[in-house]
Amino acid sequence: MNLKRKINIRGTIREDEPLIGYTSFRIGGKADLFAEPSDEADLARLLKQLKDQSIPWFILGGGANLLVSDRGIRGVVISMINLDKVSLKDTTLTLGAGMPVSDGAAYAADQGLEGLEFIYAMPGSVGGALWMNARCYGSEVASVFKGAWILDEKLERRYIPCDRDQWDYKVSPFQKREWIILSGEFELKHGDSTALWSRMLEIREDRETKGHFNAPCGGSTFKNNRDFGAPSGKLIEDAGLKGMRIGGAAVSDWHGNILINEHDASALEMDELIRLVQKRVHEMTGFLLEPEVLKVGDWED
Ligand SMILES: Cc1cc2nc3c(=O)[nH]c(=O)nc-3n(C[C@H](O)[C@H](O)[C@H](O)COP(=O)(O)OP(=O)(O)OC[C@H]3O[C@@H](n4cnc5c(N)ncnc54)[C@H](O)[C@@H]3O)c2cc1C
Repeated sequence: MNLKRKINIRGTIREDEPLIGYTSFRIGGKADLFAEPSDEADLARLLKQLKDQSIPWFILGGGANLLVSDRGIRGVVISMINLDKVSLKDTTLTLGAGMPVSDGAAYAADQGLEGLEFIYAMPGSVGGALWMNARCYGSEVASVFKGAWILDEKLERRYIPCDRDQWDYKVSPFQKREWIILSGEFELKHGDSTALWSRMLEIREDRETKGHFNAPCGGSTFKNNRDFGAPSGKLIEDAGLKGMRIGGAAVSDWHGNILINEHDASALEMDELIRLVQKRVHEMTGFLLEPEVLKVGDWED
C-alpha cells in the first residue's frame, strides 16, 4: 500500500522529496516521504502512526552535519522546522528544536542575555546543536544547557535535566538514546545587548573570513583529537591534501578540514574523498581521523 496513505497529519507530507535542498552539502537522494508536522502534538501523532506500522523515520534538523546517501532515506524524513517556539522565564530561555540555533542566539542577545553568542552564525537547528553538543569560539552547548523536553522511546513526553557527566567533546546524551528533542532550555546570564551583538558580528565575520560559507559543506568534516597534537585541518594540510578532488568533491583550498561540494558532487564521491583523506593522513602520521559528518540513509553496499 502507498506509504503516504498510511499517514495522516495536519502538517505537510510529500512523496519522493529530494533531500539535496535540505542539507548544507547540497548532496543526497530522495526521502520516500518527507513530513513537516505542524507542532509538537502533530509530531507525536505522526510518530505514533509510524511506530504502530513499523515504518522507519529519520529526524532532520538543519541538515548541516549530514552526508545523505545518493539513494536517499527510506521511510519518513521528519523535518522539525515548525517546532520553532521561543519562551523566556527570567534567565531561562526555551527554544523549539526546529528553530535555527543562530536565531536563538540573536533572540537571546536582543533580550540582553549572555551565553549563546558563540553559536551565532553556525548553521543548524537547536535540536541538532543539542544532539551534536555543537562547539565553537571557546564554548559548547553543554555549558549553557539546562534541560530538554523530549519524546522518549515510548513516545512519552518527558523533561530531561542536564547531567554534566553525560556530555563530552561532541558527545551528548541524545546520541545514545532514541529520543526526539522537542525543545531545549538554556540557562543564560544578564548581559549588555550591544556588547553581545558586537561579539556575535565579530564571530560571523570570522566565519566568513575563514570561508565557512564559500561553498556547500558540512563545516568541519573530521573531529579534532588532542592526542594527535594538531587540529585535523593542520594534519590534512601537512599531508598536502588541500585542493584534492574526487569528482565534484574537494578538500577546500582554504581549510584542510572543510570538504566541499565544488560542483554537483555525489554522496559517493564525498564519501570516497573522506576515506582517502583518512587513509593519507593515517599513512603520514599514524592517526586515524574520525569523521564528524554523519553518513545517513541507504548506504548498503
Ligand atoms: C558552514 C558550517 C559551519 C559549521 N560550524 C560548526 C562549528 O563551528 N561547530 C560545530 O559544532 N558544528 C559546526 N557545523 C556543523 C553543524 O552546524 C552542527 O553539527 C549542527 O549542530 C548540526 O545541526 P542540524 O540541526 O543541522 O542537525 P542535522 O545535521 O540535521 O542532524 C544532526 C543529527 O542530529 C539529529 N537531530 C537533529 N535534530 C534532532 C531532534 N530535534 N531530535 C533528535 N535528534 C535530532 C539528527 O537525526 C542527526 O542525527 C558547521 C556546519 C556548517 C555547514
